[in-house]
Amino acid sequence: MAIATINPATGKTEQEFEAHTDAEVDERIAAAHAAYGELRRTTFAERAAWMNAAADILEAEVDDLGRMITIEMGRPIAGARAEVLKCAKGLRYYAANAETFLAPEQLADPASVNASTAGTRYDPIGVVLAVMPWNYPLWQVLRFAGPALMAGNTGLLKHASNVPQAAIYLDTLFERAGFPTGAFRTLLIPAARVEPVMRDPRVKAATLTGSEPAGRSLASIAGSEVKHIVLELGGSDPFIVMPSADIAKAVDVAVTARNQNNGQSCIAAKRFIVHADVFDEFSTLFAQKVAALVVGDPLDEATQIGPLATESGRDELEEQVANAVGQGATVLTGGTVPDRDGWFYTPTVLTGITPDMRLHLEEAFGPVATVYRVADRDEALAIANGTTFGLSSAVWTNDADEEDFFVRGIDAGGVFVNGMTASFPELPFGGVKDSGVGRELAAVGIREFCNLKTVWKA
Ligand code: NAP
Repeated sequence: MAIATINPATGKTEQEFEAHTDAEVDERIAAAHAAYGELRRTTFAERAAWMNAAADILEAEVDDLGRMITIEMGRPIAGARAEVLKCAKGLRYYAANAETFLAPEQLADPASVNASTAGTRYDPIGVVLAVMPWNYPLWQVLRFAGPALMAGNTGLLKHASNVPQAAIYLDTLFERAGFPTGAFRTLLIPAARVEPVMRDPRVKAATLTGSEPAGRSLASIAGSEVKHIVLELGGSDPFIVMPSADIAKAVDVAVTARNQNNGQSCIAAKRFIVHADVFDEFSTLFAQKVAALVVGDPLDEATQIGPLATESGRDELEEQVANAVGQGATVLTGGTVPDRDGWFYTPTVLTGITPDMRLHLEEAFGPVATVYRVADRDEALAIANGTTFGLSSAVWTNDADEEDFFVRGIDAGGVFVNGMTASFPELPFGGVKDSGVGRELAAVGIREFCNLKTVWKA
């Protein structure tokens, strides 16, 4: 894939970029490695001051950054600006909390291990490679970079090839904020050139957010190098609605949960699993509200649904819907490619999904919702858990026993009750099954790329 900004709303190539040469990549790895030697000796207070300065820069530049995001990947402008502000909040969170999260711990009874003192400390590990997707081009990167740099690690970013302007912006953000030169560096390279970086002895670990094939590929290289890796991969999150729920509210939230960011969120609700007693009410209202979403130019403040980020992504979604319709699924609304420039897809709701359909088996990365009718909570749970994914989930019920049944029973990294899944700096984020390994955010996120060192003294 060319490293280029191609505006998804027009299909026009805005700017192309040359990939870094092997020598340039080597220089950048060397810079990150050298900066690690410096950064690991700085204090939490110094790093926190720089991290807060990076947040200040993001906030000051929010309008330009919002526009950059919208032009590179099509997110409606209000959401794009909100992403920038969320990044600033995330950086400030780690500036404020990193020292507490990484505080040494002492064993209360050191004599039990024949020591005068014994405990653990968290040390940084060095250069960490981040392979990142385009769907939240700043947030995905900064939710890694904030904790990694606060821990004293340095970072190398291989960003998605369709968001090079975001990648270049991030290349200088931390240096502008005061971090040592090289503390965070972008590598402008295609996916095919990630392997030698992962195998470079100066690179100690990696994190990848993206598709399952990309995750499997990088994890196998990390495995052969015995290097730690965190994977945040795809999802096909269930959104379960039971009769005791507030149905009108569930519908409103369902519309947002499926369609925000043009439906291209790993934690978007994708499969709506609805009890038969409220199925007709839910699906009719849901389809009406989805049909009313405003599709248009993502730079227009009134737009709710912009284009898909890439032509291939739009084509794949179209094929998934065609596959379902060809096998008998019913389209309640949408299911068409609008007659306009750019890679738009009409927000869609389908029912009558059967186990052989691609939409049942695969992630739908765009504004396409499937609604399942179930007879009881056991069938709801079986469908919820009946995919290879396990990222997050939502359950709508006002019955305490039912709530407990789903919270315990769902195989996913998160369960959100009477709401939609969202990521917060304060809460761990990640999946089980093919949705990934490891966690980002909260205390656990900063500890992923630390050496948990045992210190024992006679
Ligand atoms: P993708 O193709 O896997 O791309 C993600 C990143 O991986 C890009 O930088 C890409 O580079 C790189 N890449 C692709 N193949 C690679 C390989 N074999 N080795 C090393 N790097 C490789 O993902 P996408 O389709 O653009 O993004 C959407 C996917 O990401 C969805 O499945 C979504 O659910 C998932 N996602 C997950 C989370 C989460 O937190 N769990 C968050 C957001 C998105 P190029 O661009 O150069 O190909």
